[in-house]
Amino acid sequence: MAKVLIIGAGGVGGVVVHKCAQVPEIFSEIILASRTLSRCERIQKQLTRSIQIAHVDADKIEQVVALINKCKPDLVINVALPFQDLTIMEACLQTGVNYLDTANYEPPDEAKFCYKWQWDYHERFKSKGIMALLGSGFDPGATNVFSAYAQKHYFDEIHAIDIIDCNAGSHGHAFATNFNPEINIREITQRGKYWEKGQWVETAPLSVHMMFDYPEIGPRKSYLMYHEELESLVKHIKGLKRIRFWMTFSDAYINYLNVLQNVGMTRIDPVMYEGKKIVPLQFLKAVLPDPASLGISYTGKTNIGCFFEGEKNGQKKRLHIYNVCDHAECYKEVMAQAVSYTTGVPAMIGAIMMLTNAWRGKGVFNMEQFDPDPFMERMNMHGLPWVAKEVPEYLPTLYD
Ligand code: NDP
Repeated sequence: MAKVLIIGAGGVGGVVVHKCAQVPEIFSEIILASRTLSRCERIQKQLTRSIQIAHVDADKIEQVVALINKCKPDLVINVALPFQDLTIMEACLQTGVNYLDTANYEPPDEAKFCYKWQWDYHERFKSKGIMALLGSGFDPGATNVFSAYAQKHYFDEIHAIDIIDCNAGSHGHAFATNFNPEINIREITQRGKYWEKGQWVETAPLSVHMMFDYPEIGPRKSYLMYHEELESLVKHIKGLKRIRFWMTFSDAYINYLNVLQNVGMTRIDPVMYEGKKIVPLQFLKAVLPDPASLGISYTGKTNIGCFFEGEKNGQKKRLHIYNVCDHAECYKEVMAQAVSYTTGVPAMIGAIMMLTNAWRGKGVFNMEQFDPDPFMERMNMHGLPWVAKEVPEYLPTLYD
């Protein structure tokens, strides 16, 4: 029986609240706090179970500290934006409360994300006797757990990992992002990067693609991108020689993105507009559809997973682990689309791991540092069933 404070009432926050509410034997009390109280009220009204709501500006450490002191949670689940990671971690440190998030910190004025800022909290969390679990979404999150599972059950050494993320859904809008537009567009417009033979290799943004035939979906063009779990998996997976990340985008999406970039709408530096400073990307976010509103008309599926190649007892082995999720089914269950769902469910499962002591530690941790089995078991129980299949060919690609 535990009390959780969930910060962030967006697309992912809504799913986390719904899923925690489904497990009252663990989440006996739920408090949802966010910058705009009406968004907490909207989620509160969707539930049959009662939860508390509160206003908080999580950019202000003192507001988060005051809220934690008032509601005394066992765990803070941060599903606001990566910009708030450090202020919320700092507040957890000051109040001695455990912390979990789904995306790593990035500074607002620079499109750069890396774990250093959060890993730097390790010693302070350790000496305070508390735990932070980083990246408990799907990717990062479930993909890290899939890697730990492959390492534990299938390989002596994993030599290659390719994380492949496909959203083959259709929301009916000309252009929309599936999670926070500001964070999503910053992520996909930066340079690509992968790790090979001990070195990072950079590529121009979305300049490398392959065609992969996703189970239950079919062939989709997938673009090489940098993604944060590469940084921690390189550290924690034995024998790794190469790791890459791929995500699907339709040609129409890429066209819109190019136009927006070419006209300057994805800039993150302020420009003067009618005597006021505005950040073009933040303005773009204000006019794009809210990711939390996409679910109602969304159809189609996602398929996110990992390919592994390595050795067991001197024999070469290849493995594909993935989950398929249906947008409309997610909406029926928790009034959200599958991208929010596949992020929010692992956040709730990560919280269960911490609150039941299945995963325990003092300091700051990534998902692959713990036993994957109880997490994988919970994925099957809570709406994200997975398939682990040994395959004859590693990442078979079709070319267009
Ligand atoms: P949304 O934009 O839908 O929601 C973010 C919420 O955080 C909003 O309700 C927003 O409030 C709130 N918020 C923003 N700033 C503050 C603040 N200073 N104080 C308090 N609340 C604040 O985003 P998503 O739900 O789509 O994404 C949430 C997180 O999940 C992001 O960090 C994203 O990167 C991560 N994510 C992780 C994935 C994974 O697989 N690991 C995949 C997808 C997303 P307001 O309504 O006032 O704007």
